[in-house]
Amino acid sequence: MDEIVFKFVKPLQTYPLKSKCTCSVCPKLIRETTSHEIGLIKTTSIYLNFVSAFTTPNESLCGGNLGRDEPLDYPADYMIDDQHPSFDPETKLTHLETRYICQATRITQITKLFHRAPFIIANVENDKPCIQELADPLFVGEHEYSVSAAIKNTGDHFIAMIKSNNNQYYCFNDLDSRGCYSPNGFVTVDFAIYVLKV
Ligand SMILES: [Zn+2]
Repeated sequence: MDEIVFKFVKPLQTYPLKSKCTCSVCPKLIRETTSHEIGLIKTTSIYLNFVSAFTTPNESLCGGNLGRDEPLDYPADYMIDDQHPSFDPETKLTHLETRYICQATRITQITKLFHRAPFIIANVENDKPCIQELADPLFVGEHEYSVSAAIKNTGDHFIAMIKSNNNQYYCFNDLDSRGCYSPNGFVTVDFAIYVLKV
C-alpha cells in the first residue's frame, strides 16, 4: 500500500522529530529526523482524539550506541546488547557483536506538521478497528480532522469504507456485485483517512 499509493501523498503529513538525551555526554545527544507516519493509539478500548506526538513531549530510553568497550565512567545507566548485528563489507556476512547502549531518558519534543495537510493517512493496523470506532474528530496539533474513509488491505485487494456527510457508512468493493453498498455488520480496517475541517 505504501509503495503503490501512500508514498506519493504521505509527504504532505511530514513532521520533524527532535529528541535530546538527558545524559549530557551521550554520543547521540541530539537526534533530528523527520517522519510522515501517524499511528492512532487505542487506550482501554477507545481511540484518543489527538495524536500524542503533537501534544506532549515523549519520554523513551535513549538507545544510543556507546561502543564495544564497557564505558565504566559513563554517568547514566547503560546496558549490554550482545546481539548487535554487524555487517562485514569484505565477507558480506553479518555477525553478532557486543555493544553498550545508553539507557538514559530521551525526551522527544512536541512536534508540528510542516504543512497544513489537507488530509491525514493514519495507520490502525495494530488494532484493526471498524471505521465506526475511530476517533472523530481527530486533532493533529492545532488542526482538526474528520473521518472520511478507511481502507482494508486484504493483501491483493482493497476495500474502502466511506463515511458520508450524514454519518452513514458505505462499503466500496469492486469484487462485490453490489459495488457500493451499506455494509451489514462491521468491516475491520487498516488505514484511516482523515480530512481537514475548514
Ligand atoms: Zn543517550
